Amino acid sequence: MTIDINILNNWDQAYSWHPFTQMKEYLAHKPLHITHAKGCWLYDNEGRRYLDGNASNWTNIHGHSDQALNEALIQQLGNLQQSSYKDLSHPAASQLCHELASIAPEGLNRSFFTDNGACSVETALKMSFQYWQLTGNPQKKLIIGMEGGYHGDTFGAMSAGNSLTFHQRFSECFLPAHHFIAPQHNDMSKSLNDLDRLLDAYGDQTAILFLEPSVQGPRGMYLQPQGFVQAVAERCQAHHIHLALDEIFVGLGRLGHMLVCTHEGVRPDFLCLSKTLTGGYLPLAVTLTTQTIYDAFLGEFSEGKTFFHGHTFAANPLATAVSVKNIEKLKQRIESGALLRTCEFFGKSIDSYFSKHPFVKSVRQRGLACAIELYPGSKSTSQTFNPNDRVAHHLSLYLRDKEVLLRGVGNTLLIVPPQCMTDFEIDFLCRQTSTAISEYIHGVVRRSGMSLSIAI
Ligand SMILES: *Cc1c(COP(=O)(O)O)cnc(C)c1O
Repeated sequence: MTIDINILNNWDQAYSWHPFTQMKEYLAHKPLHITHAKGCWLYDNEGRRYLDGNASNWTNIHGHSDQALNEALIQQLGNLQQSSYKDLSHPAASQLCHELASIAPEGLNRSFFTDNGACSVETALKMSFQYWQLTGNPQKKLIIGMEGGYHGDTFGAMSAGNSLTFHQRFSECFLPAHHFIAPQHNDMSKSLNDLDRLLDAYGDQTAILFLEPSVQGPRGMYLQPQGFVQAVAERCQAHHIHLALDEIFVGLGRLGHMLVCTHEGVRPDFLCLSKTLTGGYLPLAVTLTTQTIYDAFLGEFSEGKTFFHGHTFAANPLATAVSVKNIEKLKQRIESGALLRTCEFFGKSIDSYFSKHPFVKSVRQRGLACAIELYPGSKSTSQTFNPNDRVAHHLSLYLRDKEVLLRGVGNTLLIVPPQCMTDFEIDFLCRQTSTAISEYIHGVVRRSGMSLSIAI
């Protein structure tokens, strides 16, 4: 039975509370109900289509309703939909553990499953704290993170992160943490000096350092220079600090490689994966760790070494089954060269549509991750928009009429296509976005009375 869309809209407006959303603003617009999707296209109840330029919250790899993933899911559904993973196992989870150990750096062979990114970060944090207690270093309980980092919205993850707009309200309850400054453009010396300063002062008391390697996605695609991850890893090793790499965004094909850590030649002590782990099908996350850390927790029950942490839906059979198929398909996409070709075409398209766009102040792009910073134009009297005007967010609403879904934060538009996007779709995405920026910002500038002398 299909329910009338007006009734659904009313129910959404009367009873829902959406994440990261100012509901007053949300209620001012008619809700958009996505009813079905295929490939890179989402469809609403009226049959209008939208190109998924946001990869459905950065999760989608092979497109929506992918035949092979659907079949894997349906097959698993016929066998087992959920069981306990506490002291039981099931075939899909064991297969996924094996698969993850095969793609992870040598020695990072133990998988601990949860069901979202923040929880995979919490897991690394608690494992690290307990490891240091179990090995006679109970003083090691500080966290180090990097400026602008984002690791999720639970308290441990917020403490490791440095996302003040989102988290400052809760900062009084954070765990003790220090943050070093991020590299700027190609200069990592200031950042590493700042890290050295922290390590000299607090290294003995520090348990773990969290880093989103290569690209800080949620911050707005801030890029790190070549060699930076390795330099951080060396410092962690020298100071006996665990290195946790948060590849929740960058891992599994986003930057053109299976994993950033293997590409950078770094073996962390913890590796967090989630967003793309099931190719955008079901919630699943994993914290991979080393045999050394795992071994420290072994003992008689009475010794109290057990890791008392877990979630009800850990290693859910449906999610793990679809994840196995997802990784199998991703391996083919990488080995055939298709993924790198998509990344190259995306990079070229972004460059040709946006690098000289009159309302684009700067572009940050690596792999299939891109941030476009907007401004009123070089000839305008004002060099920037007021962040509270939320230009990028309003532009993303405007883009819906151009059949494109993107996310905008502050003055920055984020473009994160599914890894399977075709050249034609990438070109459509860039062209529509470029046109929308011109039309929309012209309108904004005109309405606000800023003087503008650009002809486009
Ligand atoms: C999305 C994200 C998280 C949090 O994952 P959730 O599943 O939303 O809790 C953590 N780190 C990074 C880099 C992310 O992009």
